[in-house]
Amino acid sequence: MQIYNTLTKSKQELKPIREGEISMYVCGPTVYNLIHIGNARPMIVFDTFRRYMEYKGYKVNYVSNFTDVDDKIIKAANEEGVDASVISERYIEECKKDMQGMNVKPATVHPKATEEIGGMIDMIQTLIDKGHAYVAADGTVYYRTRSFEGYGKLSHKNLDDLQSGGRALLVTGEDQKEDPLDFVLWKPKKEGEPYWESPWCQGRPGWHIECSVMSKHYLGDTIDIHAGGEDLIFPHHENEIAQSEASNGVPFAHYWMHNAFLNIDNRKMSKSLGNFFTVRDISEKYDLQVLRFFMLSAHYRSPLNFSADLMEAAKNSLERIKGCASSLKFAIANKKDGLMDASLKEEGLKKAAEYVAGFEKAMEDDCNTADAISAVFELVKFINNELKEERDASYLQSLYDILVKLTDVLGLIMEEKEEILDEEIEDLISQRQQARKDKNFARADEIRDLLKEKGIILEDTREGVKWKRE
Ligand code: AMP
Ligand code: ZN
Repeated sequence: MQIYNTLTKSKQELKPIREGEISMYVCGPTVYNLIHIGNARPMIVFDTFRRYMEYKGYKVNYVSNFTDVDDKIIKAANEEGVDASVISERYIEECKKDMQGMNVKPATVHPKATEEIGGMIDMIQTLIDKGHAYVAADGTVYYRTRSFEGYGKLSHKNLDDLQSGGRALLVTGEDQKEDPLDFVLWKPKKEGEPYWESPWCQGRPGWHIECSVMSKHYLGDTIDIHAGGEDLIFPHHENEIAQSEASNGVPFAHYWMHNAFLNIDNRKMSKSLGNFFTVRDISEKYDLQVLRFFMLSAHYRSPLNFSADLMEAAKNSLERIKGCASSLKFAIANKKDGLMDASLKEEGLKKAAEYVAGFEKAMEDDCNTADAISAVFELVKFINNELKEERDASYLQSLYDILVKLTDVLGLIMEEKEEILDEEIEDLISQRQQARKDKNFARADEIRDLLKEKGIILEDTREGVKWKRE
């Protein structure tokens, strides 16, 4: 697997720290509003990368945070007259709904900044003890940027260029800094803001420290991959490296992956420019699978311009793939075996394996989903031709399994699970309880399997049966 590493500015072979495992941290959204489709780009592309690594048999420990303490959250909370946590909890839930709609798998852990303050205080204290940070008179703790030799290695910037750009910062009230390049690790509370006790003052953490701490907490001092949008390279990721490496004394992440922007009219889609569509807006017009397909139709490091035309094209392309899958399903149900000879079958499966190889080659070339989709289309074309001939059901089933395996890596769902209502679930669960009482275990198992097929997981606890959706 070759991936482009921002740190070395080159494609490199991915060599995980632990064999068969990948540790990966992806910077997540600040939760003060519904996410826009620009925010959805890293979610979709890195979820696809994760799915591919899982397809290859790796165990992926995937951590993605929610920034739930921030000026914008506090502002939104004050406007509504509620606690900041009301805003962040609300938008975490909304974000999770959007993720589900886009078929983005939940991370192994979704830590929240406000639940990791203790770890942040510890890391800041270590940085102070090691001389990499200092406490100003008002209790603000700053990182002493020049004390970290490797500063600038990710963004390929040099400190003196930054120095001239950074002077302006002094006028913004941060006049207690030793150096304009220094950045905030901890800041004193202001009236009406949430705060935590700390050795320096009642206050709250700066933004950068949270990712250093959450990554360390869940994945260890050195991880395989750190990822996010390219706007995070500087200063966010540069500062994360400075914090983590200065406090832990070991490299922070071996590979840095950054997605390019989702643009609209060739400008970055962003909340501050006001030129955005939320994922929710899009879901009113399209199935979010279409949005996912649209995102994957470009390489993640190429800028992608959002347009109605491209969304329509994505919709049509997705329908073609899904159409092939449903024709296959229909044929499988209506055909028998014994219609083809073994060599014909072998030849067909060999052809299909070539498309799979093409798909893998594209994915292994820095996660080139655009080319991977082309390989899927070649497979679809081949299958559609096969469907015109007399073919065995079992052979068609093999083609179906191959198609689904590839589309699953892309997070595209070929077969919608039929929705099941809460009441129907409860009803089936009580039928299952009755069956067990009647010692009709076959029926009880049948009901469990039926629910499982619909994505409902049952858990027998002492308090009774609990269920959850997958
Ligand atoms: P934020 O909530 O702004 O911190 O963004 C969350 C994630 O979305 C980060 O990884 C950003 O880099 C990414 N992001 C924000 N806007 C865009 C955009 N227009 N295109 C691609 N990624 C973006
Ligand atoms: Zn981060």
